[in-house]
Amino acid sequence: MHDHRKLGRELDLFDTDPLIGSGLPYWLPAGAAVRHSLEEYIREVERRAGYRHVYSPVLGKRELYEISGHWSHYSDDMFPPMDLGGEQMVLRPSLCPHHALIFRSRAHSYRELPLRMAELGGMYRSELSGVLGGLTRVRAIQLNDAHVFCTIDQVADEVRAALELIRRAYRALGITPARIRLSLPGEGGKYVAAPQLWERSTALLTEVLESSGLEYEAVAGEAAFYGPKIDVQIADGAGREATLSTVQVDFHQPEQFDLGYIGPDGSRHRPVMVHRAIIGSVERAVAHLIEQHGGAFPAWLAPVQVVALPVSEEEAPAAAAFVERCLERGLRAESAGPAQGSLGARIRAARLVPYQAVIGAREAAVDEIALRLRDGRRLDPRPTGEVLSHIGELVSGHRTDLW
Ligand SMILES: [Zn+2]
Repeated sequence: MHDHRKLGRELDLFDTDPLIGSGLPYWLPAGAAVRHSLEEYIREVERRAGYRHVYSPVLGKRELYEISGHWSHYSDDMFPPMDLGGEQMVLRPSLCPHHALIFRSRAHSYRELPLRMAELGGMYRSELSGVLGGLTRVRAIQLNDAHVFCTIDQVADEVRAALELIRRAYRALGITPARIRLSLPGEGGKYVAAPQLWERSTALLTEVLESSGLEYEAVAGEAAFYGPKIDVQIADGAGREATLSTVQVDFHQPEQFDLGYIGPDGSRHRPVMVHRAIIGSVERAVAHLIEQHGGAFPAWLAPVQVVALPVSEEEAPAAAAFVERCLERGLRAESAGPAQGSLGARIRAARLVPYQAVIGAREAAVDEIALRLRDGRRLDPRPTGEVLSHIGELVSGHRTDLW
């Protein structure tokens, strides 16, 4: 596997500046294109799975995190509060408290459950500068998060559905998980003390894992402070593991925020919160994708999907017209003409671009494209419209095969 920090710089995906600070990378246009495609894919998958998206602020009053329990169980990982006219404001360490408040802001009936609330939103972690590097250890994280507010009877189905979303996303992304972990509490005061609730939520997660037939490993000391979780682990080239996706069952925060819904009996009941992240941190997901694919992203994620290579200046207008048609179809395309070197040199420079269209006098004359694929395959000349609609289908289908 490759080092995403080195490739990130070579491919102009992201970088850092000491004046912004360590652990705070910025995304260059090519990296932003990858990230944008990834985020749009996640939103689309979530919309189809019945999630509705919200936006919430990246900070809140300290009191909010005192109620959620983050302040007492998680403050080591939080930024210090900012004083704002006598009020203490905190950069949020997670999205859950905001989502709990959004749920609480409206009355809910059991008919609305499971209520699935999703957001790709910012959160912050006060990592020490010694461990920061690239996109894997950052202080500002874009989290693909969601909370399902549901009845206890709906939890198992929601957990199962979340695992299925994760499985499908990994297929589209070309990611193979290293293992699945059932993360349980360990020793120490890091965890909310409510033995019965821990038992219930652990039993629910275990039941889903057992019935799914997935292989998993139970590990103590890796739970969230409010509940156990299923973690989908990925590994880098050196075998170092990290959690990418997670599904958690939480009885604690609904209690803390006094969440309720009106049941069929007309009285108020407490929902359960299922926290789930398909790709978790967008930064970590992109770092892994860079390393896994060595920069040769699946076409739907590639910063440039199609490159037009006119053989000589004569074909430059035809190449420009082809790029225009690609852009109209929503593809990311650019032209690399003879000013950028010999045809061989331009093909080498475009080696990570999934689709390379060499346009010679013949192609320009008959409006056909002879495509070279990134893997070295050369296709026979075909009508441009046909080529474009096939690429369009592969890209919108989030396929990992090139043709
Ligand atoms: Zn959460």
